[in-house]
Amino acid sequence: MEKAFQKNLINIEPYVAGEQPKSDDIIKLNANENPYPPSPAVQKAIAEFDAGALRLYPPMDAAPLRQAIADFYGIDRSCVFAGNGSDDVLAAAFRAFFNSDKPLLYPDITYSFYPVWCELLKIPFETVPVDEGFNIHVEDYYRENGGIVIPNPNAPTTIGLGLDAVEDLISHNRDSIVIIDEAYADFSGVSCVPLIKKYDNLVITQTFSKSRALAGMRVACAMADPYLIGYLDAVKDSYNSYPMDAVAIRAGAAAMSDREYFEQTCKKIIATRERTAAGLRELGFILPDSSANFLFVTHPKHTAKEIFSYLRERGIYIRYFNKPRIDDRLRITIGTDEQMDRLISELRTLIQG
Ligand SMILES: *Cc1c(COP(=O)(O)O)cnc(C)c1O
Repeated sequence: MEKAFQKNLINIEPYVAGEQPKSDDIIKLNANENPYPPSPAVQKAIAEFDAGALRLYPPMDAAPLRQAIADFYGIDRSCVFAGNGSDDVLAAAFRAFFNSDKPLLYPDITYSFYPVWCELLKIPFETVPVDEGFNIHVEDYYRENGGIVIPNPNAPTTIGLGLDAVEDLISHNRDSIVIIDEAYADFSGVSCVPLIKKYDNLVITQTFSKSRALAGMRVACAMADPYLIGYLDAVKDSYNSYPMDAVAIRAGAAAMSDREYFEQTCKKIIATRERTAAGLRELGFILPDSSANFLFVTHPKHTAKEIFSYLRERGIYIRYFNKPRIDDRLRITIGTDEQMDRLISELRTLIQG
């Protein structure tokens, strides 16, 4: 029987994340995680952490982490905000910046959390279709809006916009805030961070979950003009007593400070990505050139569902989206060379018999 309060309950679809397998034999290529561990500096920071310090609440401003991010990019600490994963950072940004009656714009094929926050925060939004090849055209965003959010490179399409195109987008939208979600930018070589000095309506978000191998810890940041950072701080400090925890602040700072290790692992992943893309194309797969740590593929003779199930039975997990426009596609995270060789060899058996 329907109870009276039921009409007041939130209408919500729970997020379904990439499956976390129980067995160690599984090759997990379904959540865009890094196949390599975080920098040894992270292990050291955690080992040296004094548990006695946990007696105190963590510093609200996550100062050592913000400083490490500022140092990495050569920007002032006042331009940096930090939070518990980009989901926390993006949620604060949506609350802080998108209080307009005009719609927030984002691509129709993109990160599935944007509509979730819009619905939770009651932000009006309109999606802007990507073209047949999944490309974003910045001219489509030259129109009235209450804000824009675009991942660059985009997910799950793997396609990145060049710096000129992003600058074009920002300069045509000076009356609203533009968020560029750079979750995968470290794999593309294109970051818009230098543009924050020039455009006071630009907000860059980044996560430590992918290129810095800290998905298990929840560390992310935003970079923008200090005036906007002030709003992010005000929002975060007003509603939550969940500043970043003391261990995450130290571990995140350590990850940021080890530039050499970071550059090495990104380079390795990019090399594996290019090898894997070539191997898949040889087997007849069709895919755009990827600027991220994953590939977005389709095969003319086998359905995405069939390939997904075939690999799953053989202990390789990839991502299938049962959604309009992309239900014939698969998202494959780049693992180690060894893992990708296994993937290619299983696919060869399926395709060539
Ligand atoms: C993975 C991802 C994030 C969020 O990462 P967190 O783990 O919450 O920091 C944000 N945006 C895009 C496009 C992503 O793919």
